[in-house]
Amino acid sequence: MYSETEIAEFLSLLKETREQLSYFKELGVESMESGSPPSRPRETTVREAEPPLAESSGHQATGISTSTAPAVVARKSYARDDASSLPPNTLFGDLTAPPVRIQKSSESFEEIWADIGDCTRCPLHQERTNIVHTDGNRKARLMFVGEAPGADEDAQALPFVGRAGQLLTKIIEAIGLKREEVLIGNVNCCRPPGNRPPTPEEASMCKPFLLREIAAVQPEVIVVLGNTAMRNLLDIKQGITRVRGQFQDYHGVKVMPTFHPAYLLRDPSKKKETWEDLKKVRDYLDSTRKRES
Ligand code: URA
Repeated sequence: MYSETEIAEFLSLLKETREQLSYFKELGVESMESGSPPSRPRETTVREAEPPLAESSGHQATGISTSTAPAVVARKSYARDDASSLPPNTLFGDLTAPPVRIQKSSESFEEIWADIGDCTRCPLHQERTNIVHTDGNRKARLMFVGEAPGADEDAQALPFVGRAGQLLTKIIEAIGLKREEVLIGNVNCCRPPGNRPPTPEEASMCKPFLLREIAAVQPEVIVVLGNTAMRNLLDIKQGITRVRGQFQDYHGVKVMPTFHPAYLLRDPSKKKETWEDLKKVRDYLDSTRKRES
């Protein structure tokens, strides 16, 4: 005889397995290889390739500090009547910088895009066809941030519309949302030549505009796709393989790093981890929705 706990565990395992199967079906995965996963592709010159698992980084680290955050990021003040927010009682007070939060802004995307204008702030403007602006629901609870447009995006002036974008759409649908319900953008708005990763300097030119969009929408969760996007948005040295699946805080916004869909196209065995990461996002959004209602 099985105990009630064992039966409950079994049912929950069954539910989990069903969800995973339907996710893989959604993504068009026919079969999974057993044993060790396929080796990582060697296309390191291709922009969306995941960099090697360097602990502290190589050329991909952005060096962008929180000081590049625009005016929408305001310092949290310590309220006198809130004992929990007082600095710790040390001889010199709190020596660490107080947390900063992204403040809600009332800017429209049109205002932000007008400031971007026909941008020539970095060399990427020279070879772009179109500036690719953030697209989707401006009241979204969930935002996805990639690295920079590819050829399809550059041609259509829309983010994530190529093969990686189609996979991203399936991933969004696998967690029960429609693409139109979320917001999708990139750290860089212009396509780097040959799909190389944007340099830290190029990323730092675009990032303030992305942050203004984030402040205008105030998504509850941002999913950063791949190493370059993660390191350009967060001040983080570790690689995506280490950090993925763990919620990070970006000035008060929850950020979930996960693999880039282009990487999943090259190594489908990594879809399982992405599914785990996205389930955490879905569960978090479900839990906050319940609290709201
Ligand atoms: N890869 C990205 O990082 N962004 C896109 O918009 C398309 C592909």
